[in-house]
Amino acid sequence: MKAETKSSPKPSKVITVGLVGNPNCGKTSLFNKLSGSQGSIGNYPRVTVEIQESIFFYKGVEIRLMDLPGIYSLTSTSPEERIGRDFLHSEKADVLINVLDAGNLDRSLFLTTQLLEMGQATVYTLNMIDEATSKGVRIDTFNLASMLGGPVVETNAKLALGLDKVMDAVLELADKPHDKINPVILPYDSHLENAISQVKNLLTKLHPGEMDQHQSRWLSIKLLEGDDELLRREGEHNHLIELVRRARYDLAHSHDESCDSMFADARYGFIHGLLLEVRKIDTLPAQRMQLTRRIDQLLLHRVLGLPIFIGLMWLMFESTFTLGAYPAQWIDQGVRLLSDGVGSFMPHGLVRDLVMDGMIMGIGAVVVFLPYILILFFFIAMFSETGYLARTSFLLDRIMHIFGLHGKAFIPLVMGFGCNVPAVMATRTIESPRARLVAVLINPFMSCSQRLPAFILLSGAFFAEHAGRMIFIMYMISIATAMGAAVFLSRVVVKGGDESFVMELPPYRFPTIESILTHIGSRAYDFVRMVGGVIVVGSITIWFLQQFPRDIEYSVDYEASIAQAQLIPDATKQSMAVKKLKDLQEQERVEKSYLGRVGQSIAPLFSIQGFDWIDSVAIISGIFAKEVVVASYGVLYGQSDGGESGSAGLQNAIAKSMSPITAFALMVFLLLYSPCLSTIAAITREAGWHWATFSIVFSLALAWSLSALIVTFGGLIL
Ligand code: GDP
Ligand code: MG
Repeated sequence: MKAETKSSPKPSKVITVGLVGNPNCGKTSLFNKLSGSQGSIGNYPRVTVEIQESIFFYKGVEIRLMDLPGIYSLTSTSPEERIGRDFLHSEKADVLINVLDAGNLDRSLFLTTQLLEMGQATVYTLNMIDEATSKGVRIDTFNLASMLGGPVVETNAKLALGLDKVMDAVLELADKPHDKINPVILPYDSHLENAISQVKNLLTKLHPGEMDQHQSRWLSIKLLEGDDELLRREGEHNHLIELVRRARYDLAHSHDESCDSMFADARYGFIHGLLLEVRKIDTLPAQRMQLTRRIDQLLLHRVLGLPIFIGLMWLMFESTFTLGAYPAQWIDQGVRLLSDGVGSFMPHGLVRDLVMDGMIMGIGAVVVFLPYILILFFFIAMFSETGYLARTSFLLDRIMHIFGLHGKAFIPLVMGFGCNVPAVMATRTIESPRARLVAVLINPFMSCSQRLPAFILLSGAFFAEHAGRMIFIMYMISIATAMGAAVFLSRVVVKGGDESFVMELPPYRFPTIESILTHIGSRAYDFVRMVGGVIVVGSITIWFLQQFPRDIEYSVDYEASIAQAQLIPDATKQSMAVKKLKDLQEQERVEKSYLGRVGQSIAPLFSIQGFDWIDSVAIISGIFAKEVVVASYGVLYGQSDGGESGSAGLQNAIAKSMSPITAFALMVFLLLYSPCLSTIAAITREAGWHWATFSIVFSLALAWSLSALIVTFGGLIL
């Protein structure tokens, strides 16, 4: 509030205002804010405490503001309370401001009940209203004002809010003639009321004409409450002192309770009833915090926290891949039906192949992932909306920090085992840009589920008895590489100070269906849009590279050979021979296609590892999408119908093409080399094209070096 300076025009009157209230309810703050910390401050030193005074002008009126020491009651005898009581008894103040802690009204109002009986003009401020509100306390100020018989103003003394209203109320009250102020009569039970009226009758006899009804009632109550100061003042009236003493004794005796506490009980009863009327406590925030604390005791438990977390992760992935398999299968069948349906309407030829193999199958390959994505994001949304996701970061932060990672990087990393695309997108939960970038860049090293078929194929072909163990080893290499890359990237590439971050632990909430759906919906949309485009373009490109050029000069006249084979009398032998020839023709066609030529030109790069042109083509196709690798082998080894990884024919064909150590190197290469196009698109979107380029170069270099090392040292050892 802006206090006017002392040079204001000569005021018509002076109002003395006293600030009364419990300690720490904000009186001094209010005093400083009201007076603008300017104006003279007068000190009235008494014993150990003092009354501060400040003079300022408000709306042309001179205000003498007094900051009294904090008191809880007017009856007890501490120095602070005596000073406060003396000031109040002397009725030096024209208006009192009773400062109440709005969040602690039960306690604040005890003093108020005593002030009420004094009948002074009082403005009530509900101070610290900000804290009360955040505790869920709502107060009906209108009702409270009518019950206290004086204006009630909500204030925040810290931020100087509501102060003008306080001063306006003060001015208004000061203008009111004293007899217009209706004192509130606190009712006591009949025994107390009896004693009060006895004392009161005697008082009016002893002080004829000196006191009105209200004042004599107040003094009677004070005397019965054992106010030693007032008792001393009436010391000469032996008769009165004796009456009070006997009344106090009788009351205490018949109720087995001290007279003081009977009065106190009555006051608390009044407060209780009053607050029931005017106060609503929204218990939800408090209850929710308590529930949250309870749940956290379990979920963030030092020993149990991590196992529970791992259990929930297991549940998430298990449900994602088991539940997702059904709709994925339906979609797969649906896409095939659609493709066949469309195919039956179209004339045979290139356009039909393009639509069926290039477009519909390409889009289908994306949509098949959608159920997995939706289920995975359902869990992520549940974890995030309930508040658990924030806790996982808390649980894992220390472990993750060893690798220069943020606790929040864990979820995206684990998601990477499913698919790197949503995983890269999920890094958005990490606030620190630096930590987020590292999490994005290491994610492609997490072996996504689309890489699995290639591992199954190769380990089945070369390490038949230990196939399972080999696949496990691939996952271990995957994790080790990701963590190693994290250390490297955070120390060398994406350097920067270790940002401290606030580990906020929001209260647990029941997620709303709406929030879950929005969460899933936006992620699913992102996924389809990003991956969809890439896959369609990618599959059309591969299809094109594989189909062209059309005019291939075959080394053998396959047409003639096939015609000859068809003359074989035995039907089974005939069809086998025809199929064999057709596969050979297809193999040669692909070898001489653009795709084959690209493979042949790249193969020399892998001379150390010993990958041939077919491996090179598979590697290139895997850049489009990892699941294409096995399909490429199927085409290239002339096992077009044996595209599945389990195919024995394909395994036999591959087994002859390289040594086991080369196969192991190839698996490591396929694990680590360039992210697929969709992931590249995701990285570009999250971190920019230069970081996407970095990711490709970095992973290619790593995959190449590691596979070269394996072949070189493996060769030496064997
Ligand atoms: P006094 O003992 O009654 O004089 O209280 P003070 O003025 O010294 O205030 C006690 C504490 O409460 C100080 O830390 C103030 O900053 C704080 N405080 C005072 N008024 C408010 C308020 O309206 N809201 C909040 N949040 N804090 C307040
Ligand atoms: Mg103070």
